[in-house]
Amino acid sequence: MKLLVVGSVAFDAIETPFGKTDKILGGAATYIGITSSILGVKSGIVSVVGGDFPQEHLDMFTGREVNIEGIEIIKEGKTFFWSGRYHNDLNTRDTLATEVNVLENFDPKIPDSMQDAEILLLGNLHPGVQLSVLEKMNNRPKLVILDTMNFWMDCAWDILMEMIAKTDVITINDEEARQLSGEYSLVKAAKKIHAMGPEYVIIKKGEHGALLFHDQKVFAIPALPLEEVFDPTGAGDTFAGGFAAYLAKKGKFDFDTMKSALIVGSAMASFTVEKFGTERIEEVNESDMFTRLRQFKELTTFDVELQ
Ligand code: AMP
Repeated sequence: MKLLVVGSVAFDAIETPFGKTDKILGGAATYIGITSSILGVKSGIVSVVGGDFPQEHLDMFTGREVNIEGIEIIKEGKTFFWSGRYHNDLNTRDTLATEVNVLENFDPKIPDSMQDAEILLLGNLHPGVQLSVLEKMNNRPKLVILDTMNFWMDCAWDILMEMIAKTDVITINDEEARQLSGEYSLVKAAKKIHAMGPEYVIIKKGEHGALLFHDQKVFAIPALPLEEVFDPTGAGDTFAGGFAAYLAKKGKFDFDTMKSALIVGSAMASFTVEKFGTERIEEVNESDMFTRLRQFKELTTFDVELQ
């Protein structure tokens, strides 16, 4: 087990300018698990679902060699449900419903088979739950990656600070970085977030790519310009999944490896947005991934002659 993922496994109902879905498979850990399997990295999920969660989704995970021993099924409970509507620019969305259901009293249990994970990826959940996972690990994983959102800044600030202090890599979007740091400039924001604990700060900028900050260094990547952007749900989680799985594959956690991991994360996220929910990322194979990585290389490599 290389990568331990703790996060939501959910039902989502999504509306975009192009259409809407009924309840479909969603959740941060879902996108992350699928993405790591495309990279051939064995991951394990710790989460909770209700008795209404279909066996076929669980089979989808096991078919991809994602270890689901850590997905607790509460038979009499209902699975977490989230619903959102995107605006015309697809960069902003309104949350229409969040039914926490079984996630409300989520008490993560780490199976023995996952205790030796090298990387712990904590998907967006209550920071108290995230912290409890770290406390339940027999040994601290080599790398702790944290995803969080503005909601927790509003209602669980102190415990979020405690969690951030124990984090190696934080992934956060631009507006959230501004809220967390009180700085408009993302460079200043990253410095302040470094000072809170994480050695590596990743700021996601949606269709404008992402920034990686470490020490005095910064690395920037664009997002792949796509013809079809259909539904951005899960793009951030797919990004985190691709990023973490690449690091797990390489077994190295230095700045240069993280730069490549950022590219892999972005390339994988570019698939997710092409169809509703997990539909597109579930179709992707290793060769699709390589093709897209080559496109990324072409997009970002250039020579400049000064004379
Ligand atoms: P993203 O588009 O990357 O922000 O992630 C969307 C996924 O996050 C959806 O599949 C939702 O099921 C899940 N999600 C939304 N809100 C929450 C929440 N409060 N806690 C856990 N997961 C959530």
